[in-house]
Amino acid sequence: MAFEGLANRLQNTMAKIRGKGKVSEADVKEMMREVRLALLEADVNYKVVKDFIKKVSERAVGQEVMKSLTPGQQVIKVVKEELTELMGGEQSKIAVSKRPPTVILMAGLQGAGKTTTTGKLANYLRKKHNRNPLLVAADIYRPAAIKQLETLGKQLGMPVFSLGDKVSPVEIAKQALEYAKNEHHDYVLIDTAGRLHIDENLMDELKQVKEAANPDEIFLVVDAMTGQDAVNVAKSFHDELGITGVILTKLDGDTRGGAALSIRAATGAPIKFAGMGEKLDALEPFHPERMASRILGMGDVLTLIEKAQENVDQEKAKQLEEKMRTMSFTFDDFLEQLEQVRNMGPLDELISMLPGAGKMKGLKNIQVDEKQLSHVEAIIRSMTKEEKEKPEIINASRRKRIAKGSGTSVQEVNRLLKQFEEMKKMMKQMTSMTKGKRKGFKFP
Ligand code: GDP
Repeated sequence: MAFEGLANRLQNTMAKIRGKGKVSEADVKEMMREVRLALLEADVNYKVVKDFIKKVSERAVGQEVMKSLTPGQQVIKVVKEELTELMGGEQSKIAVSKRPPTVILMAGLQGAGKTTTTGKLANYLRKKHNRNPLLVAADIYRPAAIKQLETLGKQLGMPVFSLGDKVSPVEIAKQALEYAKNEHHDYVLIDTAGRLHIDENLMDELKQVKEAANPDEIFLVVDAMTGQDAVNVAKSFHDELGITGVILTKLDGDTRGGAALSIRAATGAPIKFAGMGEKLDALEPFHPERMASRILGMGDVLTLIEKAQENVDQEKAKQLEEKMRTMSFTFDDFLEQLEQVRNMGPLDELISMLPGAGKMKGLKNIQVDEKQLSHVEAIIRSMTKEEKEKPEIINASRRKRIAKGSGTSVQEVNRLLKQFEEMKKMMKQMTSMTKGKRKGFKFP
């Protein structure tokens, strides 16, 4: 998971101060030393770290903390607020032109994920904002780029405007805009050429395309895994081109997070979206506050709820609750549940959004084995209808048959049956608990 090292270190530091009834200047100093090291180790730009520490220190020894009844928690609040501010404060929205189409220029170095992100962004605009984007293939140098965008367009069922690789990007942009107006596209996403390094030709060409297309947004796609380099690339592009926003890709990987934390402060350009995987729906608006909360182990319940609302059928969820209450939960329900959760994204990512997940014993080092999950699915699918409803009838010979049918082993079948039994027991306990007084959700 991204930010893992940073999150662990910061959370350990915060734990030391959380319950303190009195916070001295020396406490703050000691804590800031640890925070500073944690940030530097996460590859955050040293100037950014220096500023951050200064701001937090000033506030932490100030009135708002010292006079508070819970100074320990107050310091943590300050850290969270400043971390949020560092990443841009408010979430930065995507522009909407008063005179459609809204034009977005996509720029970035080769391999950063520019073409994929162009597809993801188009998908996002259609799905979340009900827009009708046109994709424009203006990377005429990388031989496969046009084809790649066309393939993405096909997958998404969206048109791709291309004039091949013999027409200049400026001309392509101009004609694409005409086409978009005639065909009533409200967004135009122009995929421009990437290079391995920043060079003058590339910048000149981008400037010309900018002039011709007069974009509402210029998004720079940068790979979060490249750390400090991402910050330098963003700076150069910003100086030359005046970008309006950054899209950080590969935040699903185990990046140390330095780029996400430095880019805004170092360039002034807001991070607008984060790429969280290779699939076309793996693009999320970047919420500085939620990210800060995740890093500090306070979870990101809002994103989790949003994901659940998008992917979980509310009607089915109600039925499921009823089944849990009446203890009539079957393997079919289990399978359905599994599928719904899987639609929400990789499990370890979901777990990381739970408050205190980093501190929960057992959860911290959880490695969700997707292969094992497929085995579970295969086992359930190899059961008969009756077996799914009444697992108690699954005797030794049935277990053997199920193992064979699912290409797994009898041990695995046994394990699943046992887990299912335990899960039912747990549900029973939980339902009897919630029948009593419902307890509020408490942050750690
Ligand atoms: P371009 O040269 O900048 O156009 O880069 P591509 O769009 O071809 O992407 C380069 C590689 O990065 C591809 O294998 C993509 O699947 C991958 N990629 C792009 N965005 C993400 C992301 O958010 N997460 C992960 N894990 N991979 C990504």
